[in-house]
Amino acid sequence: MNRGDNFRAAELSKSAELYQRGCKVMPGGVSRNTVLRSPHPLYAERGEGCYVTDVEGVKRIDFANNMASLIHGHAQPDVVAAVIDQLHKGTAFTLATEAEILYAEYLCSRNAGFEQIRFVNSGTEAVMGCLKASRAYTGRPKIAKVEGAYHGLYDYAEVSQTATPENWGSVDSPSSVPVAQGTPASALNDVIIIPFNDPDRAVEILDKHADELACVLVDFLPHRVGLVPASTEFVRAVYDWTRNNRALFVCDEVITFRSNYGGAQQWYDICPDLTAMGKMIGGGFPVGAIAGRQQIMDVMNPLNDPLVFPLSGTFSANPITMTAGRVAMELFNPRAVENLNLLADRARKLIVEAIALADIPACVTGGGSIFRVHMKEHPPENYREAFMDKKESLLIKTMLDHLFDHGLIMINTCSGVLSTAMTDHEIDILADVMLSGFRKVKELL
Ligand code: PMP
Repeated sequence: MNRGDNFRAAELSKSAELYQRGCKVMPGGVSRNTVLRSPHPLYAERGEGCYVTDVEGVKRIDFANNMASLIHGHAQPDVVAAVIDQLHKGTAFTLATEAEILYAEYLCSRNAGFEQIRFVNSGTEAVMGCLKASRAYTGRPKIAKVEGAYHGLYDYAEVSQTATPENWGSVDSPSSVPVAQGTPASALNDVIIIPFNDPDRAVEILDKHADELACVLVDFLPHRVGLVPASTEFVRAVYDWTRNNRALFVCDEVITFRSNYGGAQQWYDICPDLTAMGKMIGGGFPVGAIAGRQQIMDVMNPLNDPLVFPLSGTFSANPITMTAGRVAMELFNPRAVENLNLLADRARKLIVEAIALADIPACVTGGGSIFRVHMKEHPPENYREAFMDKKESLLIKTMLDHLFDHGLIMINTCSGVLSTAMTDHEIDILADVMLSGFRKVKELL
């Protein structure tokens, strides 16, 4: 692999040219803002295992894994073979397929709480489906969610995801802040914001809306909130509150399902009513899923009259995604889950050591197979603490550029996600480059 500071000079040409073309036909030149980087995005040529080669021929280690969606890295041979086989048979039908049943049976077997499941095409759709199912089941209009948590693009799910000190309001009663201009006030009024890992405040806020709340939506390791695991006390308090107030407990495991064989929910002594999944369960293809208790899932049952929550999608449960997802997940067996988490433990430990060696006020958070580096002395406990001011944003950008220039692709919050294609070798490189990065950042303090 090429590594060194001269990456950037070499990589400008083809990608810069592609970006100019992209800008003419797409706002900002891209379809996903996540791939933007200054001065232009890098364009991928191919990926294999945990390495990605760009159009300039530069190969890097992929710690982004398409935003945590590739559990085995790129072009896993068993997944590729199964998909090619299915491609020859057709990609989508206005008929049901056995591929859907096989995968539904398999995913339900991984978690006793998944009595039934429905597939959709993205995490956004999965979360939307959970919220609509909660409303349909309870007959109540409101949902509660954690300040700063990302749950996709649904109007209700995205409220307060990008709140700032100027608009987030008091901690006892956080404001419902829109993300997109033009979000209807009615949507904002129907979303109640609670602080992360603050059980007393959260319950106090929920109590005020007890008769109107359909569900509380929780991510156990919310990336934008700082990537700190939800405390047992917080989860217990919110879960018990839903039990006592006839609201549903909905968890967003779009990312965290990778943390445990049956999802991060198995870290806690709870049985969520509904779970939204996505990303890795598609085996590299677009996917989402809603799983949960049969009694609640039955709101989607079209055999009921009336049908209280119609749910459909042209490409939902297409046999390509179902096949790729099943093969990928079968490979991610309990042993693979454990090994990956151990590798991530090692990565976090080595980053802590690098921080100590560089003697810089930084820290690393995370859990399962994910980590995030903060240019803060202590791990943030909630969104307000995780919020990056201009200074920290600059330090993180410096770090990201350093990592990139030395051959590491990260998620733009300076988070990393492991794949089963990685070994100690890639983690050693990560630790090495992180150390030189921390030293570089220190010069700016
Ligand atoms: N929930 C979480 C926790 C996510 O991280 C994401 C995507 N980053 C989503 C939902 C939305 O998933 P998608 O991008 O597939 O719509």
